[in-house]
Amino acid sequence: NWDKILQLMRDEYDISPVGYETWLKPLQVESVDEDNHIVNIVIMDPKIETIGLNFIKKKYSFVLQISIEEVTGFKCTVHFYSKGQADTIKEPELPEVKDSSLMTIMQNANLNPKYTFDTFVVGSNNKMAHAAALAVAESPAEIYNPLFIYGGVGLGKTHLMHSIANFILKNDPSKRIMYVTSEKFTNELIDSIRNKNFTTATQFREKYRNNDVLLVDDIQFIIGKESTQEEIFHTFNTLHEAKKQIIISSDRPPKEFETLEDRLVSRFEWGLTVDIQSPDYETRMAILRKKEEMDGYNIDNEVIKYIANNIKSNIRELEGALTKVIALSKLDNKEINLDLAEEALKDFISPNQDMEITPETIINVVADHYKCTPADLISSKRNKEIVIPRQIVMYLCRSMTDCPLQMIGKYLGGKDHTTIINGIKKITKQLDTDENMKTTIDVLKKKINPT
Ligand code: ADP
Ligand code: MG
Repeated sequence: NWDKILQLMRDEYDISPVGYETWLKPLQVESVDEDNHIVNIVIMDPKIETIGLNFIKKKYSFVLQISIEEVTGFKCTVHFYSKGQADTIKEPELPEVKDSSLMTIMQNANLNPKYTFDTFVVGSNNKMAHAAALAVAESPAEIYNPLFIYGGVGLGKTHLMHSIANFILKNDPSKRIMYVTSEKFTNELIDSIRNKNFTTATQFREKYRNNDVLLVDDIQFIIGKESTQEEIFHTFNTLHEAKKQIIISSDRPPKEFETLEDRLVSRFEWGLTVDIQSPDYETRMAILRKKEEMDGYNIDNEVIKYIANNIKSNIRELEGALTKVIALSKLDNKEINLDLAEEALKDFISPNQDMEITPETIINVVADHYKCTPADLISSKRNKEIVIPRQIVMYLCRSMTDCPLQMIGKYLGGKDHTTIINGIKKITKQLDTDENMKTTIDVLKKKINPT
């Protein structure tokens, strides 16, 4: 059965060959505790014991659990041990491994290696924010603390924040850095109060206070959440007093946080506040060129101009438009020209695009939120990382649009309407009991419809 389980994991859950060889092959079942539904698993490879234990736990526990359940029908939690410690129950968190690669460090800090200063196009709309970000990256905690970046959706705040963190880590991999969205911060705080996932309040605090650089993205979502505000306030004070860098982003300037406590607002203003505006035509062109170059295409100037002329408000949409044109050309096997671009973007550029919320918007926002692609959501992949966001799309389409069930199914790559109903039910049910899901749905709704 164990072989079957491993095989299932490899085949169904997109585990790369090298990932399979390195992490899954050395695993063996040590014992099964039927009464408590626990499967104890030993890692048989001393070379990966230290790095592997944490990594496997984080990345594969869940997949392993569902695979075991799928093959044997046995619902369980898995516990991992390294060989030398098979008898003693280890603390879930191991100390940081010093010499792990930069990639691992970035992963632990929740950083996206693709978002760097190199890939960030500087234009008149973001010049100031870019300069401030670079300055902070070059001398953290020395000049602007906190750095507060604000601006509308899809204008590059998150990109800039990751750029700072990636830059600092490249220069000094020993720096402790943590990136978090205020949504995740809130959810982890709730979990730590309830003592789920072995995280205690102390562990939670350490995770966020014990850093050289803390980045909190989309801070506006703490509005109305008392305990999160309180925790942010103390985290801020601890870090600031210890001369550690804090970087915050938001959709509005601190002054416009009407309902936020003054003491928090005033702290946000202690350092430097910079904004990012919508990109002008030149910047839009430059961003499209950069993206085209990075993806290895050479697209006719007329087409780039057409996109830059028609998609104005938001860089995420600008990128989305280019991707769509490229996708259509591949799909129809046609060359990229103006006709094709018009065809590809006809929904994007509809005159009354202003207000209406469409399933497409919802799919894009959810994909962005969960760091997957719209294609993943439309696919029939069954891994948890995709299934839940897909069900969330179903739920949001139902509650935010007039779209009939069948149509929602169509937007999601032709799923039948019972699948859609089940998805909606699942999320609705979860909302009754799961605070985290509530926060997430809340955040997503605001992202989809900011007004
Ligand atoms: P925000 O956090 O403000 O909503 P993001 O940082 O997520 O926006 O940016 C949305 C998308 O646009 C990302 O894919 C990002 O890489 C891209 N982007 C934004 N600004 C720039 C820029 N100046 N140069 C290149 N790409 C950009
Ligand atoms: Mg963002």
